[in-house]
Amino acid sequence: MLPSNTRKRRPSPMNEYSPPAPSPVMAQYLEIKEANPGCLLFFRMGDFFELFFEDAVAAARALDIALTKRGRHDGADIPMCGVPVHTAEAYLARLIRAGFKVAICDQIEDPAEARRRGAKGPVRRAVTRLVTAGTLTEEGLLDARRHNYLAGLAEAGGELGLAWLDLSTGAFALAPTGETVLAGDLARLMPGEILLPERMLTRPALFELFAEWKSALTSLPNARFESESGRRRLENFYGVGALEGFGSFGRAEIAAAGALVDYVALTQQGRPPHLEPPRRVAPSSVMQIDAATRRNLELVATLTGERRGSLLATIDRTITAAGARLLADHLATPLAEPAAVAARLDAVQFCVDRHELRGGLRERLDRCPDIERALTRLSLGRGGPRDLAALRQSLGETAALRDMLAEPVLVPLPERLAAAKKGLGEHGILVERLEWALAAELPLFARDGGFIATGYSRELDEWRSLRDESRRMIAALQARYATETGIGALKIRHNNVIGYYIEVSANHAGKLGAEFIHRQTMAGAQRYTTVELADLETKIASAAERALALELRLYEDLVGEVMARRAEIAAAAAALATLDLAAALAEVAVGSQWVRPVVEEGTAFEIRGGRHPTVEAALVGEGRGGGFVANNCVLADDRIWLVTGPNMAGKSTFLRQNALIAVLAQMGSYVPAQSARIGIVDRLFSRVGAADDLARGRSTFMVEMVETAAILNQAGPRSFVILDEIGRGTATFDGLSIAWACLEHLHEDNRCRTLFATHYHELTALAAKLPALACHTMRVKEWKGDVVFLHEVGSGTADRSYGVHVAKLAGLPKSVTARAEEVLGVLEKGEQGGALARLADDLPLFNAARRRAEPPPQASAAEALLLQTRPDELTPREALELVYRLKVLVAE
Ligand code: ADP
Repeated sequence: MLPSNTRKRRPSPMNEYSPPAPSPVMAQYLEIKEANPGCLLFFRMGDFFELFFEDAVAAARALDIALTKRGRHDGADIPMCGVPVHTAEAYLARLIRAGFKVAICDQIEDPAEARRRGAKGPVRRAVTRLVTAGTLTEEGLLDARRHNYLAGLAEAGGELGLAWLDLSTGAFALAPTGETVLAGDLARLMPGEILLPERMLTRPALFELFAEWKSALTSLPNARFESESGRRRLENFYGVGALEGFGSFGRAEIAAAGALVDYVALTQQGRPPHLEPPRRVAPSSVMQIDAATRRNLELVATLTGERRGSLLATIDRTITAAGARLLADHLATPLAEPAAVAARLDAVQFCVDRHELRGGLRERLDRCPDIERALTRLSLGRGGPRDLAALRQSLGETAALRDMLAEPVLVPLPERLAAAKKGLGEHGILVERLEWALAAELPLFARDGGFIATGYSRELDEWRSLRDESRRMIAALQARYATETGIGALKIRHNNVIGYYIEVSANHAGKLGAEFIHRQTMAGAQRYTTVELADLETKIASAAERALALELRLYEDLVGEVMARRAEIAAAAAALATLDLAAALAEVAVGSQWVRPVVEEGTAFEIRGGRHPTVEAALVGEGRGGGFVANNCVLADDRIWLVTGPNMAGKSTFLRQNALIAVLAQMGSYVPAQSARIGIVDRLFSRVGAADDLARGRSTFMVEMVETAAILNQAGPRSFVILDEIGRGTATFDGLSIAWACLEHLHEDNRCRTLFATHYHELTALAAKLPALACHTMRVKEWKGDVVFLHEVGSGTADRSYGVHVAKLAGLPKSVTARAEEVLGVLEKGEQGGALARLADDLPLFNAARRRAEPPPQASAAEALLLQTRPDELTPREALELVYRLKVLVAE
């Protein structure tokens, strides 16, 4: 953040005189700036927000706008840049993305009024809001399909607590956390901003994690994370005597939640936002997935950070933004309680089984704009007529949706849909009022006026007709003046500087009578006014002013009505999201032929005909619909499957698909399989693929070992682990030994369900020793010296790794693959030392190998036969026989 205190700037030693006092406006600026350290100050000057000093330099660079100067301070020019108020949002978005916080300092009185009051000095200004990454509410600054969480981390009684809220929707939750699981928790929430007490920054165990989240951290004084004052703050906020009614919370969680509410109040300058009561997420109720596993499985983003190609993008058929946010939340947080999973699956199944209902719901949902965020903007005083229109529209649809769900044939509805139906609520009166009140075309801001429909307020209609009538009178006046003066081209025009004026070209100027008062001389034209015109103008202005003032009052009334029903509207918004999600998951299930999984207690894992959702979708996208080979994965007495097979045979795909099926099942979705039975997975671990983490200064091997360590230290009997190619990043014997020891540990200590892919065939020897370990292999067919991957998992072990074949496929020069085969042959005979030395000495052999590797093309039997043939001498019958013989030869 920027060094903020411009006041401390000392005069240069060259300056013997004390500098002149700053101008009154500058003094006001400096005071406000000092009160808001760490923020860029957007200082309202008329139609612009201006930035000064270091703020101006930093913002001009970040926004790529001109840096100029305005006035002098302490004997130096003051650097300045500015952005127009009406386009400020776009600039704000860029600054927030670049990691700045911005304090918005507005004029809190009308300059004209201040003058009338006879006030001296600059117009009153105050900071009306701090804009930070975690407290955004504007559509333009947010991704509609993702939550933007503000998270808070606190410590009390030796425990860590985490709280998170989305100010733009009102979602608010908290949970206990700990040093080892915090990384996973943050990876799940992906908060835009994380508040934490200053002292926590010095906790060695969290150094590395904080370094990773550096740009999102906001450290605040320790006192703000005090649990008792946090509790009081929450009780005040919700107007309750005790928090226990919401659940039983740990002190650290309360401290974190209290700090969030405090920060929201600070950044929103006292306007109470809409926040749902805090919901506690018990760690045992959700599947724990650490950060590395999330990344590796590409749940919400691919390894390269894109949404496209992630599991989320593959399954997202939601229609509304709120539905999309709910889907992302559910996918990030699969459940660990069979009953809760079943309740979600019941809702999805209901929509799967009822094609018409699903279609009907989706058609209606398609007309529902995002009311969660509209509601928050309105409650923060940051909304506009279009937010009211969004409510009118979406709440208007709730009646039809409720009727749809009330069809007698649908009784009884599954629990979640019944709750959604109830949540939709009754909004007829509000909707009717909004329909009556709002005009067809709406401005973004209420201050622009013109959004109240004709017929809603008689008084408003009167002011408006007076305004419009006066405009017609101006037109009449123009016609009259034109006739009276005989100047046909006389015009009455309007601009913002001088208001209404009469304009004639310079050569007609002499023809005007004395009542025309000269205002301006332009190139080729003269401008005048008259007493009559000035009177009319006043009438128009005051009518327009009154109309606008009245409109704003009516707007506030409407917002007041909405606020009075805030809880019901929030419930309707949640219901819409639930319906959207159930119908959307049903849509994927039907479209991709997925099945309802059975999720139960115990440690079963029986996937039959399982597929990888994104790899299959990619094949479908390429027009190779049936191209994906389904595979079984049935872990019973054999808890651990050791999967061997060459590179590219489909090992990683197989491993991942089973982990993804577990995630999908426990989030409450159908799964890509013929059948699936899964005993609740309490923790999911994956160590897949190798990626250097150079940003954190770790080699591939180090990353691999860190991730493996986490698995071996944490996995328990209800966990599910996929491990791919452990020990690959180091020397063969090292790697083999590590993989060997890991397998033993998983088998003896962790006792978890495990899929372990390896290219070390030596590991299959463990099968004899470890009773719960079974060997499986990716089937490969050898055909005329080439390998064909069947992508089929079968029991047994791969006899070879086919590395050289894969190298051939990849297009390595033939001389290289031939030489590699030769070396391999020697190595496989086992007498490494001597034979290797001989090979190395035998460089000339290399040339021979090259010659052998690229033999002159030899004619095949079929070709030889063809060459011998003399077509002109063949009888028709012989020709036919020749074709048959050629066919046989080619087939051989
Ligand atoms: P490995 O881990 O054995 O090196 P991958 O799992 O990366 O192999 O698979 C290599 C490629 O093979 C994948 O990108 C995919 O296109 C294809 N593939 C894998 N499994 C299947 C399958 N079951 N059906 C069809 N294609 C598959």
